[in-house]
Amino acid sequence: MKEILYKSTRDSSKVVTASQAILKGLSDDGGLFVPTSLPVLDKSVKELSTMNYREVAYEVMKLFFSDFTEEELKNCINNAYDSKFDTEEIAPMAEADGAFYLELYHGATIAFKDMALSILPHLMTTSAKKNNISNEIVILTATSGDTGKAALAGFADVPGTRIIVFYPKGGVSFIQERQMVTQKGDNTYVVGIKGNFDDAQTGVKNIFGDKELAKELDSKGFQFSSANSINIGRLVPQVVYYVYAYAKLVEAGKIADGEAINVVVPTGNFGNILAAYFAKNMGIPIAKLICASNENKVLFDFFETGVYDRNRQFMLTNSPSMDILISSNLERLIYMIAGEDSEKNATLMKQLSSEGKYEITADMKAKLADFVGGFASQEQTNARIKDMYDKTGYVLDTHTAVASSVYQDYVKNTGDNTKTVIASTASPFKFTTSVMEAIEGKKSDLPDFELVDQLSKIANVAVPNAVEEIKTAPTRHDHVVDKANMVDAVKEFLGL
Ligand SMILES: *Cc1c(COP(=O)(O)O)cnc(C)c1O
Repeated sequence: MKEILYKSTRDSSKVVTASQAILKGLSDDGGLFVPTSLPVLDKSVKELSTMNYREVAYEVMKLFFSDFTEEELKNCINNAYDSKFDTEEIAPMAEADGAFYLELYHGATIAFKDMALSILPHLMTTSAKKNNISNEIVILTATSGDTGKAALAGFADVPGTRIIVFYPKGGVSFIQERQMVTQKGDNTYVVGIKGNFDDAQTGVKNIFGDKELAKELDSKGFQFSSANSINIGRLVPQVVYYVYAYAKLVEAGKIADGEAINVVVPTGNFGNILAAYFAKNMGIPIAKLICASNENKVLFDFFETGVYDRNRQFMLTNSPSMDILISSNLERLIYMIAGEDSEKNATLMKQLSSEGKYEITADMKAKLADFVGGFASQEQTNARIKDMYDKTGYVLDTHTAVASSVYQDYVKNTGDNTKTVIASTASPFKFTTSVMEAIEGKKSDLPDFELVDQLSKIANVAVPNAVEEIKTAPTRHDHVVDKANMVDAVKEFLGL
């Protein structure tokens, strides 16, 4: 098999293996790891259509993680996509109101982050073994709500690892916060920060870039790694579900083999939609990649104008996992459309960090023709949830509803009736309060957990385990720190 190596988007001169890229998370120069070339699927859609999720996962991941043995990779996959998911299909599809909803929320924490974070700990510990690492791996993660819990669940009590999660206090949903602060496992540490998600993410990036701290850690037998979606071990597992979805649509006779589909992705950090772009480049017939934003529509503006500008007010919405102004994974796309010119990319990223904005060239913009940006206001999002429920009984979560609303606008504006897969990124139960408010047209006075039971009744869906278990679980984490004191929190947990 062809060996795939990884280079940094800010300095292409050095390469590392897949396992080294997974361990490091972020390159030393602050860049993100990208494969030296994008692999092409070596199985036909026909062959893929008879495979189950784990088998498709192997066919995709073997191409990217070429320094893993077949046994190592299959072990990782089998440990990840098992009975933690509440359905054998892992990522089932529901057809509703003219689109296919790819339900990516059947894992342990009922959001799509489980798709990648159930396998990352296994990829990480396997990578550590392969590279003779004896340090304990300290996972450092900033979360807008869903990554944190999914990473905690993935890494809890995994030998040789510790995990520290920073979340914006007051910036996540009730259920999301309960899920995190009740997390078990002696190697877990959850910290609320006084700031928003971008503050948390910037703080984590700064800690990663702190060479003195890294030295101190190393002397005590620790090293940092990242579970954020910048890690290539987060990105690659996401390519799988677009390949799987396409193959399953063909198998079910919903589309012909070779027929192009459109994909709509509710987007924050740009990881999920970038995975769809990778799937397209690997041979899956995807026509348009529709990038859906909420009121933090920095990506919509970028696709319209070619200017990425984060200098704007940060909006708190009812789709909090998309409340992001710096979409980290976009850097990989910028690098690719810059003709893999790491200097050009590094210059733009420097502008982003110093001035908060950059503009791409006309040449680069021309290479974005497959992408369409859209956004939905909170009002439109709520209306979409209600309309879908009234029409079909199917309940969308707030993030998926953003995508669904954007999709409706897109069809209205273009008349493009290409069959469409919408990434359904969270269970409505994760955002019960907002979803019930949308359906009922007003805020309820009921406690959150009673609303959960109501939602279960009206949606005719059982309360997911993930919600059932936090109803009674005790709080285990109650640290809140100023955003300037994140390093101290890390040191305290590690006993430095
Ligand atoms: C993280 C998240 C998103 C955004 O995904 P990205 O890969 O960061 O673009 C969308 N919806 C939900 C529910 C999420 O948890």
